[in-house]
Amino acid sequence: MQPSTRNGPGSQNAALPGKDLRFLVVEDHDFQRRMMVEMLESLGVRSIHEASDGFSALEVLREIDQAFDVIVTDIDMPGMDGMAFIRRLGEAKVRASLIITSGLDKSLLGTMETMSAAYGMRLLGTIEKPPTPQRFAELISMHWQVRSKPEETKQGSPTFTLQQVLKGLEAEQFEPYYQPKIELKTRRVTGAEALARWRHPHGGVVLPYAFISVLEEAGQIAELTWLMLAKSARDCRNWRDAGLDLNVSVNISVKLLEDPAIADAITWQVTHQGLEPKHVILEITESAAMSSVGHVLENLVRLRMKGFGLSIDDYGTGYSSLQQLTRIPFTELKVDHSFVMHAAHQESSRMILESSLEMARKLGITSVAEGAETAEDWNLLRECGCDLAQGFFVARPMKSADFPDWVQTWA
Ligand code: C2E
Ligand code: MG
Ligand code: MG
Repeated sequence: MQPSTRNGPGSQNAALPGKDLRFLVVEDHDFQRRMMVEMLESLGVRSIHEASDGFSALEVLREIDQAFDVIVTDIDMPGMDGMAFIRRLGEAKVRASLIITSGLDKSLLGTMETMSAAYGMRLLGTIEKPPTPQRFAELISMHWQVRSKPEETKQGSPTFTLQQVLKGLEAEQFEPYYQPKIELKTRRVTGAEALARWRHPHGGVVLPYAFISVLEEAGQIAELTWLMLAKSARDCRNWRDAGLDLNVSVNISVKLLEDPAIADAITWQVTHQGLEPKHVILEITESAAMSSVGHVLENLVRLRMKGFGLSIDDYGTGYSSLQQLTRIPFTELKVDHSFVMHAAHQESSRMILESSLEMARKLGITSVAEGAETAEDWNLLRECGCDLAQGFFVARPMKSADFPDWVQTWA
């Protein structure tokens, strides 16, 4: 079938979410394709191209100069099916967002989601047939959210050399920013996570991805950790002195935990600032926490005995079993933001979120969700019985000086 171009009648309503987006709809059934085009038109979309399978869709992509914003594709099609089409899109580094429509069952749709991500495609979500205008509108709004992600979420490879980072440390350019942790049931602030920031004299505020791995790989993460522990223990003690019942969470790299003397050193950094260990939660990533290195386990037990809280960070990205989790006296389980952010629209993420929360309940420890970005994420977390949440929906990490005022205003 020849791909056809259709310019919809346009909309009188400037607020329609799809108005300025360019769509490509790939579907072999003429009737279903027609129906989706009409739905998109009803949402104000004015630029819609159509194709009946992967081959003709790739042809449309080659012929049209301007990039598409959203590609809607069926999976089961004669000729080139949806899976091969998505692979080709990934290979061609097409930047469009993807919506998958399919009559496939839910478990297969979950696999499609994983596969699209593996091919580097940004999947907004899947639509079970028959599609509805409401579901299209939801996914279109996701496109805008993804598009408007602030710079702060960008990750990439380190951009600084070890010498530059060490020079910055020496010049005391590093400091903790704080992101509040909120109890979902009561909306009370329970504490904050300290996140390292580098106030670079020329580069603005630099995020951890640009320096943590540089330090870790060179075996030089200790100095930053001492600084983070000391500053956040001092800040937390000040909050508490001012009558705010808050604790502070600090990220600890597993490399450090391999040092047999580390538990005493961590304890000294905290108590030296006049703060009791019970007000500090040490966050260790799931993969690190599952280390079978004897020293790591010994240190974790010792830290717990001294009163520190222990949190499994980025939970869901490692492969820990219930048996492994019970070996270590964790007090908190922190679900990785990748599952939290997608749970509202992605069956597979929601399953991982729910089973992580269930795991925390079974272990009798506090569950925390990180990366709650929208009201929808927030409400879902409440429904699922998650204890605490942190995320851009409530607040971005902020300067130490701004945090106490923020807490007062929130209260
Ligand atoms: P993490 O411990 O999992 O911290 C949570 C990250 O999620 C933070 O990124 C935070 O800014 C970000 N985040 C919070 N809410 C949202 C949200 O709603 N949406 C999205 N997309 N992201 C959100 P950040 O500050 O860039 O830190 C990245 C990682 O760097 C941390 O992940 C932690 O593993 C590491 N890190 C940060 N500070 C330190 C430190 O002092 N020592 C060590 N060893 N690692 C650190
Ligand atoms: Mg953390
Ligand atoms: Mg995390």
